[in-house]
Amino acid sequence: MIALFLSNMSKTKVCFKCNKRKYLKGFYKHSAMRDGYLNKCKICARKESRNNPNNKANNRRREQKPERKRKQYLYNKQRRSKHPNIRKMRSWINNLFRLGKLKRELCVIRGCKGIAQAHHPDYRKKRLIIWLCFQHHRDVHKGKIDQRDLSREVLPF
Ligand SMILES: [Zn+2]
Ligand SMILES: [Zn+2]
Ligand SMILES: [Zn+2]
Repeated sequence: MIALFLSNMSKTKVCFKCNKRKYLKGFYKHSAMRDGYLNKCKICARKESRNNPNNKANNRRREQKPERKRKQYLYNKQRRSKHPNIRKMRSWINNLFRLGKLKRELCVIRGCKGIAQAHHPDYRKKRLIIWLCFQHHRDVHKGKIDQRDLSREVLPF
């Protein structure tokens, strides 16, 4: 019984960070250590590497996210300031839909039968629209489809 207890004790180690006694599998192996394991447990080691500003992987992770968000933000801001009436036109169109003055057409892409949204090829001309389903609308904005090839409609309002 005592022998079993001792042998179990020898498979444990006290973490010098959190002072908890844990089984060796709770510690990372490290050849430089006398018993072959780090003196801090895996949980503490992970916590430390996450908080370590010199950890390259962490830096990348930390920088990337806000950077992307910032770019997206700038892009949206730029887009808005370039076309201050995007939002106005969108609500104008939505209003027409709501009032029943404007009926949703089908997507103008050949073979596509999708219910369309009104896309403005030119934000300065609110009556000029191209009917595009959600998917094709996105493709046009992403530049995958050249909108110059698409048939347009001028609203009679
Ligand atoms: Zn620990
Ligand atoms: Zn659009
Ligand atoms: Zn479509």
